[in-house]
Amino acid sequence: MSSKQSSLHRFRLKRDLERLASKEGRGTELVSLYVPPDRQISDVVTMLNDEYGTASNIKSTTTRKNVQDAIVKVTQRLKLFKKVPENGLVIFCGAIPQNGPGSEKIETYVIAPPEPIQVYLYRCDSRFHIEHLKEFLVEKETYGVLVLDASGATFATLKGKRLDIVEKITSGVPGKFRAGGQSARRFDRQREAKINDYFKRVGEHANKTFLEIDNLKSLIIGGPGPTKEDFMKGDYLHYTLKEKVAATIDTSYVNEQGVEEAVERSQDILRRIRYVEEKNIINDFLGEISKDTGLATYGENEVRRNLKLGSVNTLLLSEDIDSVRVTVKCSSCDYVNQETMKRHKVPELEQDISNNACPKCGVPTLSVEDVQELIDELAELADETGADVEVLSGETEEGQMLKKSFGGIAALLRYKA
Ligand code: ZN
Repeated sequence: MSSKQSSLHRFRLKRDLERLASKEGRGTELVSLYVPPDRQISDVVTMLNDEYGTASNIKSTTTRKNVQDAIVKVTQRLKLFKKVPENGLVIFCGAIPQNGPGSEKIETYVIAPPEPIQVYLYRCDSRFHIEHLKEFLVEKETYGVLVLDASGATFATLKGKRLDIVEKITSGVPGKFRAGGQSARRFDRQREAKINDYFKRVGEHANKTFLEIDNLKSLIIGGPGPTKEDFMKGDYLHYTLKEKVAATIDTSYVNEQGVEEAVERSQDILRRIRYVEEKNIINDFLGEISKDTGLATYGENEVRRNLKLGSVNTLLLSEDIDSVRVTVKCSSCDYVNQETMKRHKVPELEQDISNNACPKCGVPTLSVEDVQELIDELAELADETGADVEVLSGETEEGQMLKKSFGGIAALLRYKA
């Protein structure tokens, strides 16, 4: 998965999980099912049939009915698959109160995990068990960590939450204070030469350790004092690694503890890396707009038009767009209308069209055919024409600007269209 696609996938998963986390059952009646890729659908169906039988012992009539209804729905969904998809399958289903007690409605959610799931799990609880999917929101890229001062250096890698110390070296550089009788200039010159040799060795070890990592996301440099900055000023690191330095961090130590100190702040750094990516993307867009090159556009209608023409290179979407794309159809003629509106306006529209005649044939048979997140709808259009999609947070000044000044929908274009 390219990083370009992953901002969209992460956003979707995050959004789905937030919604699922907010749902609560009346009792212990919400079903969570995780099926790993190596399972047979028929085995899972057998297991669900057993659970259906077991559920007949539940004393409360309502709970028993709700659990059994949920199991039936899950089984039906499962049977739509000939085999388990390559990353496995997760289904959540249960009776969710819509508007106080007695208003429960069975809701079903099928989630395709972004990576293979390992766990095989059936749970019936008052909430949905989303924790095994939450893991996929954790950053999985590898980061290099180098801490150094004039006494030595430690090289480590961080993948997800796993930290590996790769190597430690000592500098062999004497302390700053010369012994008596030595000429000060000579001492300084010798010390400088030794530091230079040491920096060369640090560079060689860093290049050897970090260059061979596929998809190294970035490099974090740490250490006490100004040695790390001196090291960075020279040409000791391979230029591709130099470009990947995301942050230099002050730490108290230069050993494993120093690496841990640097990593402790990695959450901030990771966020900052995405910040920088986001800033760059939006600045590219703002640059095209201010130079009036015609290679950038914004606003839902213009962006949609360009998406349909296939002229979009990168689609930029603010993650908090809360609009949906609603399709209204007439069952008596071929009238179809699509419009964009805030999600909370949909019930009002449904009310409205039930009182109104079709503008084309005059028969009052209009209904809402489909309600789709605007972000998903635009992302699908992008996907059809091979455009990249970037879902951007409002956490940067640029992200705020995209939202406030450009309606949260913009595009970088391949050509003027
Ligand atoms: Zn009609």
